[in-house]
Parts: sequence; structure tokens; C-alpha cells
Amino acid sequence: MTNILDNRPALKAEIDKVAEVAGYLWTKGWAERNGGNITINITEWVDDAMRGLPAISEPKAIGTSLPQLKGCWFYCKGTQKRMRDLARDPMSNGSIIRILPDCAHYEIVADAPVAPTSELPSHLSVHDYLLAKGSPYRASLHTHPIELVALTHSKKWMEKDAATRMLWSMIPETKAFCPRGLGMVPYMLPSSVELADATIKAIDEDYDVVMWEKHGVFAVDTDIMSAFDQVDVLNKAAQIYISARNMGFEPEGMTDDQMQELTDVFGLPK
Ligand SMILES: [Zn+2]
Repeated sequence: MTNILDNRPALKAEIDKVAEVAGYLWTKGWAERNGGNITINITEWVDDAMRGLPAISEPKAIGTSLPQLKGCWFYCKGTQKRMRDLARDPMSNGSIIRILPDCAHYEIVADAPVAPTSELPSHLSVHDYLLAKGSPYRASLHTHPIELVALTHSKKWMEKDAATRMLWSMIPETKAFCPRGLGMVPYMLPSSVELADATIKAIDEDYDVVMWEKHGVFAVDTDIMSAFDQVDVLNKAAQIYISARNMGFEPEGMTDDQMQELTDVFGLPK
């Protein structure tokens, strides 16, 4: 059986990163059953031979028209597939698709006709937005980080930048490695257009990681490992907060001056 990743080491390296991250998501308990989604824009690693490959599915409607995605290719986690299985075998639990010239349909090209995640329209809408903005970000991740989701069950932490400030103040690296903080989106139906629109609005307000109330996070970055890292440092900060509370006290947190110093010394955006 042919494998599209054969003799394409750069493309394979990106898919290997997806598999590695999928394993982390499962190990951390953030990816129960088929929970979570990953899509990456792989267009820059597509060669002429790939462009000449026949489709292995009928054209399928995206459900919207996304003009920036003309000629783009994506690796997408498969619908109903598990992260823990994807970690072992990414090409049986996800597929490579290309967007058709009408920008409203896609077809599966490799390796198996695994239907992409039901969240595909929202993920592709985010990729379309990122390209329109000239962003270098090529990866999007949705997962269910336990402690961050727990925070959103309190209205206090859903207020704009309340959680960001608390998380940044737990340990200096949080602000350094998730320098745009955590955008908050109130509860909306999973997979809905409204949720996708609200997510793009939050990214546009200059957040790389967006929290969906009582559900999970949606993160974007240059590659999937970096997107995962941002969620990981934020969730670590939430764990430190919870550990302090479990010891019976409210953690002090770093001061505003200490956090401003980080911004000044490391040239952070906020
Ligand atoms: Zn989810």
C-alpha cells in the first residue's frame, strides 16, 4: 500500500508532530473517547506529484465558502477517531484533503478515505481567517484540558482577562510562553457557526488560546507542537493555582510590577 508520507520527510515530520501531540493529549487526560480536534495547513509541503494524485473521495461541501483556502491542503483528524489511536497511526485516524477551486468543497487525497472531523468547517474558517490576516500560524488544536475547563465553571474567571491575569501570575513562564493570554468565549453549542465566529473574533482580539466555557480550548500557532505548548503552560498554571487552594490558601500571585517587568525585559506583546 502506498503511503503519501513516503519520501516526503518534511511533510512526514509535521504529521509525526501531530501524532506526538495526540499522544500527549491522551496521556494528560484531555482527550477522552474521540474528544478534541487537530487540523494543520500542509500546503507548503505539497509537491507537484501530490498535486497530480487522484482524489479517493467524492467532493464534499464544506458548508461555507472560504476564498483564502484556494489550493490549500490540510491534514485533519478523522471524525469519531480517538487521539490515542491517532498517536499510533495518524494516517488511519486522519486524512489529507485538498480544497477545490470553488473554495466551498474538498476531497480526500490520502491515505484512506477517513472523513475529517465534524469540526472541519470551524477549523477551516479559522485557517481562512489566519491566511487573510497574513498570519504565519498553520495549526489549530481543540482539546479539553481539565483544570482550565474547571475554571470556566465560575463566572469570576469568565470575565475578560481575569483568568489570564491569575494564570500569568502563578509562574513567570506562563506569560513568557503564552504571551497573549486566554480569550474567553461564553458557552455555545459545540460545532455551531456561532461558536466558530466567536472563536475567530477572540483570535482577532489578539489571543492565541481561546477558552470555550464549560467545554475546552481552541489554540492556534505556527505548528501543532507550539499550539499544544501554549495550552500546556496555561493548564500548568491552573494546576498551581488549584494546588495552592488545596493547601488551604489563596495563592498570592506575582505582582503587577513583576509581570510588567517580564513584558519589558522579554519584549512581550501584552
Ligand atoms: Zn470539544
